[in-house]
Parts: sequence; structure tokens; C-alpha cells
Amino acid sequence: MVDTTIKTTKSQEIFAAAQNLMPGGVSSPVRAFKSVGGQPIVFDKVKGAHIWDVDGNKYIDYVGSWGPAICGHANPEVISALHQALEKGTSFGAPCVLENILAEMVIDAVPSIEMVRFVNSGTEACMAVLRLMRAYTNREKIIKFEGCYHGHADMFLVKAGSGVATLGLPDSPGVPKSATKGTLTAPFNDLEAVKALFEQNPGEIAGVILEPVVGNAGFIAPDAGFLEGLREITQENGALLVFDEVMTGFRIAYGGAQAKFGITPDLTTLGKVIGGGLPVGAYGGRREIMSMIAPAGPVYQAGTLSGNPLAMTAGIKTLELLQKPGTYDYLERITQKLVNGMLTIAKEAGHSVCGGSISAMFGLFFTSGPVHNYEDAKKSDTVKFGRFYRAMLERGIYLAPSQFEAGFTSLAHTEEDIDQTLAVVKEVLRGVN
Ligand code: PLP
Repeated sequence: MVDTTIKTTKSQEIFAAAQNLMPGGVSSPVRAFKSVGGQPIVFDKVKGAHIWDVDGNKYIDYVGSWGPAICGHANPEVISALHQALEKGTSFGAPCVLENILAEMVIDAVPSIEMVRFVNSGTEACMAVLRLMRAYTNREKIIKFEGCYHGHADMFLVKAGSGVATLGLPDSPGVPKSATKGTLTAPFNDLEAVKALFEQNPGEIAGVILEPVVGNAGFIAPDAGFLEGLREITQENGALLVFDEVMTGFRIAYGGAQAKFGITPDLTTLGKVIGGGLPVGAYGGRREIMSMIAPAGPVYQAGTLSGNPLAMTAGIKTLELLQKPGTYDYLERITQKLVNGMLTIAKEAGHSVCGGSISAMFGLFFTSGPVHNYEDAKKSDTVKFGRFYRAMLERGIYLAPSQFEAGFTSLAHTEEDIDQTLAVVKEVLRGVN
């Protein structure tokens, strides 16, 4: 392995200070680099496909703020729209027309959504959808999949992905057993397991929630027939099907995974892209179900900053940019080039790898695979991933600091960025063992 070449003195100083101020020095766990080793980098600014740290090092960024930056960071049109919106104030805490505009865009785009409620994060969207699932069906149990992450609400912290997987944590202390006793889990891509759960819990399961393409256990695509099968099983059992499209929404296709695969769930959660980099989440679905939300109906859910004009503005502009012809073809092409390039280089260098991509979402595991579920993903050589990760970072490529997170490309990534990345991958994978 070639020696470290970059200077990160300021990053280290700031992170050392942060450790005394915030648990683990961070505002969200995976940022602490626990699973890849080494010191986390403290960042200063972003632009397009790039991110700069406080020591002035520049990186090609495949994290994209964990998904929102699909049009590139600090997109000039998004920034300009935000400047104009700022002149009118930051939050009204009251209806504003921007909510209508974004709601219409979301309803037009996402097949399952006839009505939408805006919230402030993906976690909030998933919490709310859970209550709605239970209220609508008058049932309390849900099925989720091992390695899928639906935010940090109690009932979802069972065999969860993302930071929980990255840190190898058990289900979190502080979550009461009573909160999770209704959370049933199955391996992703395993329809028989789902059928068995319905058989064992007749008339008790409110619904099935999943990431239709998993990103929080690394990138795992649904097997052919899996989403269709879930649609059938839920319908047969009077249960709801919920796609958590916080990550995949407007990323793997404009209408999300449900548009891409042609399977319409009953309810959908969104986040990330629809906020254009500001804090937003949303949930939506059939009018009949959404009409149960207060004040139209009795299911309570509220938010001080929900639907605030800045977040709505950034979301609207981002979706407008995504509507331009050729957007998703471009994202598909550059991402495939990146992943196919990485796989070829890795195999030539004698590594066992597998991976894939759909549109602007990708992943690479250090196992020969195939990876159909979280158990398969865990066969990945995470120590090797850590070495690969740090070597990439030292050469100016910023990937998600965990084997159990997906990577993201954006409209700002150029062919040259991909070529440059692949050149670094080549250098690094020849040295990593
Ligand atoms: N659902 C999915 C699929 C996610 O990927 C995430 C976050 O990464 C969430 C929910 C939670 O969203 P947030 O971090 O905005 O609370």
C-alpha cells in the first residue's frame, strides 16, 4: 500500500474537539468512520461532484450528502431559487403555495401517491406511515426485512441496516420490548419467509415495509418476481404494501422504484432528493388511506417546520432539473460505467467482488456473491473494504464510509470524474490485500 499522501491536520483537530462536544464527535453515527478505521474527515464546502475538507483537500464525492445531491452539490439553480425564497423568510408555520407545487409534482411522479403529507426527515415519514398502516388496517404487526433501514423509530430498530449494520450493533438499548414485539422480520428477497409470517400471524399483520432496492445493507437489488410477490401476498392478506423510497425515490427513476419496476404499493415514504439538500421527508398513498391523517381524519401527525418554504423551494427546483430529458439515461450510463469498471479492475487484480447499480445508486461488496440479502452482504470482507476505503480517500475519492451503504452518483459527475475514479481504483486495488 502506498503511504498516506494527504494532510488532514485541521480535520483531526476539529474532530478531536468534537468528540468532547457530541457523542462520538458526530451528529449521525456512520460519519465517525468506525467501520473503515482512520480519522473521519471534516468538510468545509461542496460544489457539483466535489467536496473539500477543512485542510483544502478535494475529493470526488460518491456520498452526495447520503442522497439528496442528485443534481450535484450547490446546484446554481437550486441555490438561486433558495436565495429568492430566503428574501421572503425561512418558515411560515402555515400553508404556503410552494407545498401545493411540490405536492403536485410528487403526486404526478409517484404512481402510488394520490395525496402527500410533508415532514422533515425520512425517519419522520416512516414513523408516520407506520401509525397510518396500523390505523387503516386496525392491526398492529408489521413485516420488515433484515438489513433494511427505515429511520431510527423504535419499531424499526430490529435487524436494521445503515449505521446499525455498520457498527454491528444489536437492536438498540432503550427500545422497549413492547415496541418491537410486533415487528416481524424476514430475509430480503425471500417470499416464502414472508408467506410463512402471514400464515403464523393470521389477520394480525398491518403491512410489509421495505426498501424496494436496498441501500442500507449495501446495494441489493430485488430478485425478479420479489416485488410482484409481495404485492400479491399483501393483497391476499388484506395488508398494506409500503415502499420506503426515501433513498430510491427520484433516484433510480423519476417515479422511484415503483415506476421502474411497475409495482404500485399502497403507501410510499420519501425524503432526501425531494428536499434538494434541505431537511424534508414525505409520505403518501391512496386518497382513501391518506384521508385518515389529521385534521382530515383521526390519525395524528404534525410538525413545526413541515412544508417550510425553503425545503419546498429546494425540492421543487431539484425535481424540475430532474425532469429534463435524458437525465436518468445519463445517470444510468455513468453509474454503470463506474461499477462495471470497478468490478473488472477488482477481478483482474484477483479480488472476490460483486456489485451492481440501478440508475444513480450503486454498490460493491468484497465477496464473490451473489448478494440477495443482508446475510449474504455480511460475507463481505469488511476489513479489506476498510483498507480499500482509506486508500481511495487518500487519493481523493470519497465513498460512503461503510460496506453497508450504497453509493450515489449525480448529474454533476462527468465521464472524466468516472475515468479518474477508475484510475484510482486500479492503483488501489493492485495494492490492497
Ligand atoms: N429510509 C431509508 C430507506 C433511508 O435510507 C433513510 C436514511 O438514510 C431513512 C429512511 C431515514 O431518513 P432520515 O435519515 O432522513 O431520517
